[in-house]
Amino acid sequence: MPRKSVIKHVKRIVVKVGSSSVTDGRGISGGKISKIVGDVADIIKRGYQVVIVSSGAIAAGSASLKKNVKSLTIPEKQAFAAVGQTILMNEYRNKFSRRGLPVAQILLTEDDVRHRTRFTNASHTLETLLHRGIIPIVNENDSVAVNEIKFGDNDLLSAHVTSLINADLLILLSDVNGFYRYRDDPEPVEEVENITDSIVERAGGTGSAFGSGGMLSKIRAAELIMRFGQMMIIANAKEKNVLARIMNGERIGTLFRGRNKPLSGKKRWLALRKTSGVLILDDGAVQAIRVGKKSLLASGITGMIGDFDMGDIVEISDDRNNKIGKGIVNYACAELDKIKGKKSAEIRKILGENIFEEVIHRDDLMVY
Ligand code: GLU
Repeated sequence: MPRKSVIKHVKRIVVKVGSSSVTDGRGISGGKISKIVGDVADIIKRGYQVVIVSSGAIAAGSASLKKNVKSLTIPEKQAFAAVGQTILMNEYRNKFSRRGLPVAQILLTEDDVRHRTRFTNASHTLETLLHRGIIPIVNENDSVAVNEIKFGDNDLLSAHVTSLINADLLILLSDVNGFYRYRDDPEPVEEVENITDSIVERAGGTGSAFGSGGMLSKIRAAELIMRFGQMMIIANAKEKNVLARIMNGERIGTLFRGRNKPLSGKKRWLALRKTSGVLILDDGAVQAIRVGKKSLLASGITGMIGDFDMGDIVEISDDRNNKIGKGIVNYACAELDKIKGKKSAEIRKILGENIFEEVIHRDDLMVY
């Protein structure tokens, strides 16, 4: 499908700006921020809703304190991020306000989107800001995030934000022109429909055109976005009027567009969660879930892997280890061990009258 017809339906966009696109060797670059602000303001004036995810806090903080990022300890990085975040926001605020556009700062950790209530709260806040014409500018809350609650990089964070607000498109602005299949290709790939093992390997494995890290985390973000049924574009931040031209349907950068239908809010949230175990199903249960679109009952479960509690998220698979989906489980592993393969009447005899009919309710189940 031509870019134009794909882009035509987009209304809400997340624009992720990498550190290299807002800083130079001396910290925050006023010129680079002006360019981003100009590009974003152009598309807002055309009626698009935009959320920005911006990196650059640590780089700005360490430059202002005249320290080299590479020599910093973790607590120093966290402290300097707190310094730099105010510098970063100040730049955005001044530059957007000259164009009559108000901004708001949102700092998130993984914990904020892991819990369903916090996920819902964060999305309500973002919705309210967008409806009032305020541009939310998001970054990771580096000053409080420890490893277990870190997104790790802003590519992943921006995929979460795209999910939070159900945006149609995530644009990753970076210092590359897009995703290149081979090192010597003159142009980046125009469109990717499927993240294959060879794409992952080229992005991060040996023989990568970009070294490691940068492209791999972008491909990981694309994987999530495509699973949600949303779209992502990697483009060069230096490209003139980059956002307006993307929204005009110009073939800039690489478009990642899967075939999945958009998922509901709860299922997008589920798609991003880590699992605590696996339930193994017989073929009848697999059929009931895939074709019959039914909930998962204990009678179809033949085994479990891992140790999970009621309310945890587990993966479901068939007995040949093919992954079917994931969902919120209504029983702890030990209870499930007693009732697997059994019908409701038998379950009542074992666990008493107060039981859940479904091990995973359809509404809490996401099928791949
Ligand atoms: N949150 C970090 C910062 O603002 C950047 C993380 C990243 O670029 O992936 O400095």
